[in-house]
Amino acid sequence: MIVYNFSAGPAVLPKEVLQRAAAEMLDWHGSGMSVMEMSHRGPEFISIAEKAEADLRTLLAIPADYEVLFLQGGAIGENAIVPMNLLADKKVIDFVNTGEWSKKSIKEAKKYAQVNVAASSEDKNFTYVPARETWKLTKDAAYVHVCTNETIGGVEYHFTPDVGSVPLVADMSSHILSRPIDVSKYGVIYGGAQKNVGPAGLTLVIVRKELLDRALPITPSAFHWKEQAEADSMLNTPPTYGIYIAGLVFEWLLAQGGLPAIEKKNVAKAKLLYDYLDSTSFYFNPVRKEDRSRMNVPFRLRDEKLDGEFLKGAEARELLQLKGHRSVGGMRASIYNAMPIEGVQALVDYMREFERRYG
Ligand SMILES: *Cc1c(COP(=O)(O)O)cnc(C)c1O
Repeated sequence: MIVYNFSAGPAVLPKEVLQRAAAEMLDWHGSGMSVMEMSHRGPEFISIAEKAEADLRTLLAIPADYEVLFLQGGAIGENAIVPMNLLADKKVIDFVNTGEWSKKSIKEAKKYAQVNVAASSEDKNFTYVPARETWKLTKDAAYVHVCTNETIGGVEYHFTPDVGSVPLVADMSSHILSRPIDVSKYGVIYGGAQKNVGPAGLTLVIVRKELLDRALPITPSAFHWKEQAEADSMLNTPPTYGIYIAGLVFEWLLAQGGLPAIEKKNVAKAKLLYDYLDSTSFYFNPVRKEDRSRMNVPFRLRDEKLDGEFLKGAEARELLQLKGHRSVGGMRASIYNAMPIEGVQALVDYMREFERRYG
């Protein structure tokens, strides 16, 4: 059965990756063990984790002065873990508020520090990224936090903000590995895996080594980046199966030409959907064109009374999980790396047909 799964996360994974995991489920490379059964300190799993890190470094061209950590806690965990690791003797954190995930980060950070909202797009219901020139940054901030892809609002940064010598921290949960980025412009990049990388339970943290001395003494060891870096992310038992699947996803990306190649596909997929949305008044997407997300495409029917009918018809065509986030309603199509263009085409075909019928 072919279904197209538009879930925002946990989300679609590449079929080839799942097939390979299935083939290796009972016996990984002649070890006689499933990856789930291996000691994280044994040579088999160590080789899996090292290959995953090396491939991630290749994909993102991560400079040598950055640590790559495979942790737990998710991006919501990082909302507390980041301040604990970076505050040191500083008092203020600068935030740019572009939507639901920024708001959650801000709320959590307030438990640890003074928060300055340097810019916000709340005035237009979070439908754009405030221009860098408008940000009112604090001089001596611990760091500047941005969410570079708002998964619920469908707003994405298509530029890397320059914040001078203050570290830039980015929640990239829902678009990491969708395009090349210049890691050296960031102090910290983090993200939960379940959008574009692998299964839930694994959290990626990429951190510039010089920032590892800024943790508050209360920082729990399992979330203490320096201690985890020194232990190769194995201070506690890491999410081993998640790391294994993420490693297969990294191999899948490298095999098709890395991030420049996947970016091309993502641009084509997003264009197909947005071009259609812009060609009709039956549906609409409220986000400013320059700031639209390539990964998460929220859209609404002009007549909300048809929402239920739309979703029912979509399910009947095996177009799954298109319901918008509970906080905003409407529809949302998440079209991560693993969504083939055929899936987006099938969605657009269905939307056209639905419009013909009810428009
Ligand atoms: C999904 C998501 C989160 C939350 O991730 P958890 O794994 O639930 O902690 C945070 N930020 C962004 C941008 C997300 O897309």
